[in-house]
Amino acid sequence: MPAPANPVSYAFERVLAEVRAGDHPGNVADYIPELAKGDPEKFAIAAASVSGHSYAAGDSTTRFTIQSISKAFVYALVLAEHGVDAVLTHVGVEPSGQAFNAISFDEQGRPANPLINAGAIVTTSLIPGTTADERLEHIRQGLSAFAGRELHCDETVAASESATGDRNRALAMLARSSGALVGTVEDTVEAYFRQCSLLVDAHDLAVMGATLANDGVNPVTEQQIVPAPVARDALSLMSSCGMYDHSGQWLFNVGLPAKSGVAGGIVAVAPGEYGIGVFSPPLDPVGNSARGVAALRMLSEEFGLHLFRHPARPVSPVSAIETDPHTATTTMRLRGSLDFVAAEQVAYEAVGIIDASGSRTLVIQAEDVTEASNVAIMLLHDLLTRARDAGIDIAVIDPDGVLRRK
Ligand code: GLU
Repeated sequence: MPAPANPVSYAFERVLAEVRAGDHPGNVADYIPELAKGDPEKFAIAAASVSGHSYAAGDSTTRFTIQSISKAFVYALVLAEHGVDAVLTHVGVEPSGQAFNAISFDEQGRPANPLINAGAIVTTSLIPGTTADERLEHIRQGLSAFAGRELHCDETVAASESATGDRNRALAMLARSSGALVGTVEDTVEAYFRQCSLLVDAHDLAVMGATLANDGVNPVTEQQIVPAPVARDALSLMSSCGMYDHSGQWLFNVGLPAKSGVAGGIVAVAPGEYGIGVFSPPLDPVGNSARGVAALRMLSEEFGLHLFRHPARPVSPVSAIETDPHTATTTMRLRGSLDFVAAEQVAYEAVGIIDASGSRTLVIQAEDVTEASNVAIMLLHDLLTRARDAGIDIAVIDPDGVLRRK
């Protein structure tokens, strides 16, 4: 018997159909001549979870050039390579409020952020390598690791962009004159044109996004691609600057860090949960995929993905509290992964129960605790020290040592 269709993919099919039936006018980009050949009817949604589960609907294996979506991932590679302080001397982190190809430099001569062309070209110049080929190869390998498969460049699109890319060359020259861009203009822009011409499909974008959602670990290959703080920094920037000069509107409506590209792709990330890739070539007036924006807005609303939604109340870290009045002993059973929020609940309940029960002994049963963050361990140790100081006997049952100070 065939396996039943997965309900998540089925929900994506429905979103595709509803968005197709709606009115979302747009035009396929033609300022890069090769992009004008994009099929306006193609439409795909794919998602990958941090557990490595994948879902897709529509034309999810159709390849297209990654374009500006590459900027977020190349920025992550550069941060991992040089560290945030060094990179900040070359390119800022402020939304520009201007078009992607604007001449946008601050008083120090830095492009406003790495997700507009001026900043992205500077970012590409910070990739190790002295020639365009060396830089591109570094980028290609890095983005392939994010996607979990070998990506390749569409040389025809790259050549088309190079032939019409004088505005990007001009931005590069301005950046070089201020010292933001390192290396030569021509090598850098050629690497940049080819980085934008790497071919991906919606599923690749989903896995790339899921890698950022998963603290920099690709959930399919289980490889750490960039350190966790770098993944967080890339997501921060995507949430403030990722959707051209509609980034504020996007955060307001959809509430997910995202980056779009002029070939019609968008990657969106639900941190700690999913990466989502969508693809539909016709663009709205600011340059975002018109159907892609509509689909992600619908998904965010229906699936409750907005970053600032009221989150579901997590399962309590205290699975049971038992008090034995004969021995004046209270046992708290803890479970799961303890972070600051969980440790705060444990401490709050422990203090309350000691007060209310008059117990003289507190037993912390931590057998079912899977992991504990540094701050959780610190709070729990502090709780126990204070309880001891107040004359309470403490016993901690922690066979795996998860509550031990690291
Ligand atoms: N390669 C394109 C350019 O530099 C990328 C633009 C985009 O996707 O926003 O013009």
